[in-house]
Amino acid sequence: MSDFTMTIGGEQVAAPETFEVVNPATGAPHAQAPACSPAQLDDAMAAAAAAFPAWRADPDARRAALSAAAARLREHARELAVILTAEQGKPLGSATVEVFGTAMWLQYFADLALPREILQDDEKAFTEVVRRPLGVVAAITPWNFPLALASWKLGPALLAGNTVVLKPSPHTPLATLRMGDLLRDVLPPGVLNVVSGPDPLGAAITAHEVPRKISFTGSVATGRAVAAAAAPRLKRVTLELGGNDPAILLDDVDAAAVADKVFEAAFANNGQVCSAIKRVYVPESRYAEVVEALAQRAGEAVVGPGTEEGVDLGPVGNLPQFERVRELVSAALDGGAKAAAGGRALDRPGYFHEPTVLADVTDGSRIVDEEQFGPVLPVVAYRDLDDAVARANATHFGLSGSVWGADPERATAVAARLECGTAWVNTHLVLAPHLPFGGVKQSGIGVENGPWGVHGCTDLQVLHTARG
Ligand code: NAD
Repeated sequence: MSDFTMTIGGEQVAAPETFEVVNPATGAPHAQAPACSPAQLDDAMAAAAAAFPAWRADPDARRAALSAAAARLREHARELAVILTAEQGKPLGSATVEVFGTAMWLQYFADLALPREILQDDEKAFTEVVRRPLGVVAAITPWNFPLALASWKLGPALLAGNTVVLKPSPHTPLATLRMGDLLRDVLPPGVLNVVSGPDPLGAAITAHEVPRKISFTGSVATGRAVAAAAAPRLKRVTLELGGNDPAILLDDVDAAAVADKVFEAAFANNGQVCSAIKRVYVPESRYAEVVEALAQRAGEAVVGPGTEEGVDLGPVGNLPQFERVRELVSAALDGGAKAAAGGRALDRPGYFHEPTVLADVTDGSRIVDEEQFGPVLPVVAYRDLDDAVARANATHFGLSGSVWGADPERATAVAARLECGTAWVNTHLVLAPHLPFGGVKQSGIGVENGPWGVHGCTDLQVLHTARG
């Protein structure tokens, strides 16, 4: 029996089978989650489809409901944060910030003005662009920010008048299931359905005939599978996929100050952020001091269970990811990299890894070329800025990147050369509901947030009335 239930058609629904959810701070299962059956998935899709006509008809009711949903999450912030820390590992303070961020995103969309888009209003014609909801949107989320990334999908999809079937990652289903519970009397039945299950449920959702759109956040590999599965019915997709974000330091940086900020943006959420800094390019002339400053900062970070006071970094989120981080670090060390800080897993239960700064690494090694998605940062030396930009761009990823320097104009000119969806200057990881976010190249298709995110949950119709 699961301690958690799904939300289908406004009802609390248990599943015939359950699966284990592991606490990454112990490595042991700590809860059971419902494994949605095929019939229950059909029920969820049917409930979402049935709720669509009434939901799309009343924009004011949608805004009021989104606002009430945000308030409900804020009221239950502590409870949701405790669940999130237990399943994901992040420190309780960060989990609380995530819950409030989730509420903030929903509130932003509740309040977002969507002005009429009138193209022509004269004696010949009245022509307007109308954004029509699609119907049922399937939302599939990863395990690094289960609640926050759900709100990036729910806010725009619901505001636009769609109904949703939401599926969290099987590594972190619990906080999302509980969110479904909490919103059951805030949203009309069927408007938000929350189902959970192992990965094949994601494939079943994508292939299901009901959803008109798949809004997916996850890895590039799964994103490709989603795009292929959406193709036969030409479903719309938004794909927010992985990244291998470069940070390029210019030769005039203040090493200590920048190292501090680079560390924060590389090790936030234990490095498990799609747009975290994943490789740093440093001029040869400044290399030693930057490595030292980053290593010192890494050495100061407190690693431990997210439930303990004073912890900066929790465990890696799950066993496959922990093993991947270990494998990438040991391959780098075997290949001649030097661990300026860390380099090992902690000798204790759970998926803890030392915050690791790797020096003497370069492009062509896995730790630089692949997305590590964990607490390890390779630092790469460069001689020539053009070469650094070329190497930063020599990847199929294109999520975001940053350039750091004392002269903002010069740094901005370099940032404009990065092939990515967001290029930051003297900062990294600035994310907000009004800022469109998405990847170029294989980091994704489409964007979320702001009116652009809402438009992505609609079909565009030109409504043209002849006059005279
Ligand atoms: P993942 O691709 O393994 O899983 C993501 C989700 O897809 C999960 O809910 C999973 O159950 C589901 N899924 C698995 N197989 C599926 C299939 N065949 N069809 C449909 N759904 C399926 O990713 P993950 O390991 O959970 O998350 C980490 C990845 O997510 C990283 O690459 C990270 O960069 C990326 N990410 C991207 C963004 C962004 O906004 N661009 C944000 C966060 C994370």
